[in-house]
Amino acid sequence: MSRLQITRFCLAKTPCLPRLQGVPSRLVARAAFSTSSRRQLMETTGFTDEQLTVREAISNICAKFPNTYWQEHDQQEKDPKEFHAALAKDGWLGIALPESHGGAGLGISEATMMMQTITQSGAGMAGAQAIHANVYATQPLAKFGTKEQLETTIPNIINGTWRTCFGVTEPNTGLETLKLKTLATKTADGYSITGQKIWITCAQVASKMILLARTTPLEEVKKSSEGLSLFCIDLNRDQPGLDMRKIKKMGGRAVDANEVFFDNYQIPADALIGEENQGFKIILHGMNAERCLLAGEALGLGYAALERASQYARERVVFGRPIGQNQGVAHPLADAYMNLEAAKLATYHAARLYDNNDGSVPFHSIGVACNSAKYLAAEAAFKACERAVLAHGGMGYAMEFDVERYLRECLVPRIAPVSREMILNYISEKVLEMPRSY
Ligand SMILES: Cc1cc2nc3c(=O)[nH]c(=O)nc-3n(C[C@H](O)[C@H](O)[C@H](O)COP(=O)(O)OP(=O)(O)OC[C@H]3O[C@@H](n4cnc5c(N)ncnc54)[C@H](O)[C@@H]3O)c2cc1C
Repeated sequence: MSRLQITRFCLAKTPCLPRLQGVPSRLVARAAFSTSSRRQLMETTGFTDEQLTVREAISNICAKFPNTYWQEHDQQEKDPKEFHAALAKDGWLGIALPESHGGAGLGISEATMMMQTITQSGAGMAGAQAIHANVYATQPLAKFGTKEQLETTIPNIINGTWRTCFGVTEPNTGLETLKLKTLATKTADGYSITGQKIWITCAQVASKMILLARTTPLEEVKKSSEGLSLFCIDLNRDQPGLDMRKIKKMGGRAVDANEVFFDNYQIPADALIGEENQGFKIILHGMNAERCLLAGEALGLGYAALERASQYARERVVFGRPIGQNQGVAHPLADAYMNLEAAKLATYHAARLYDNNDGSVPFHSIGVACNSAKYLAAEAAFKACERAVLAHGGMGYAMEFDVERYLRECLVPRIAPVSREMILNYISEKVLEMPRSY
């Protein structure tokens, strides 16, 4: 289905498209946009009807999960399974998956808007991370998987029966992904996995893992990008050779992060995605998309923090006037707003380039745009969250005002999936033509 047809579907509110359930038609067609009666800070001019429709529908779902839900789940380290189920129920986990397998067939521009709307609703990174891998890590599977893999896996991920996680990072190689050591050794009827992954989000609740492992040892390949393979594996806790341990962490505590240990863990041959030893090329396909999603998640958190801060600064009276009347309070917030708006333009520009897959935009330009967007959005979000805490004074440190949670969580887009330093390295080398530094 073409994008034009999708727009028509959006406007017509066709019931067969799950993403549009519950969207009042008056909201679908209008240009200006508001997710609730509360004033929204973000300027929404320029977004497409599809993006605004996504935003409205996701906002309606998120409204059922108030800040207290996220506070409690964060404090009790409790999986937000009701939230995951609510999004799955209306088909949202398939937003960027093919229509032929039950997805909505929309692009990263719309998926980014969905992730931004989730964090902005107050769900923060916890809400986003509860579904992130299902939306993004399934992209290589959708593009390179066999018909059988797609038919058995994708519908179950979209309808929420299975959750998935993404297993790339390793404790001893970190950002030097190409040096990863987890080995998938060929057996008579499949592969035997041995190695360790770290920081794997949602591994405790996932049934599937999209796993990057070595099928040819590093010493035997010419280039370190060779010899890696991508798998979609079952996480079967009853099977020998699989163990996982939760990592205690600073923020987003509702979602688990884990060390995952494989010790001769057996997987079938048909778990392989695409060709053996081509895993890095396959995974590259999705990396720019993930940068866009993370940028959107960061933006949402930043806007949420700024909304809370500006409301507090209007209402809190000290020395006989609202604290926001002091330029020392107002200007840092105004500055943070402009940073978010600029990062928003960079983010949706990058997503648009990514979605424009007619070959007219060089891969290099897409990479530069997506990395820049992730960097700018993460930095803008950090600035907004830090200033939101400071604008609240002592109450910024109190759980009930949420901004302390946002500040804890906004560090994630600065670190993952690629750190700010590595993006600066990338731009220095690829755009400024400096000597490679790593
Ligand atoms: C909350 C959270 C969730 C995550 N979820 C997942 C997940 O689901 N799946 C997954 O696979 N991974 C996940 N990650 C891992 C994440 O992608 C990595 O933490 C990230 O890529 C950084 O790798 P590292 O921690 O090994 O840092 P390291 O590689 O150890 O780097 C440490 C620091 O050194 C800097 N550095 C290193 N080399 C250079 C250099 N050459 N030049 C300049 N600076 C350099 C880095 O920028 C960084 O600041 C998650 C991480 C977090 C925190």
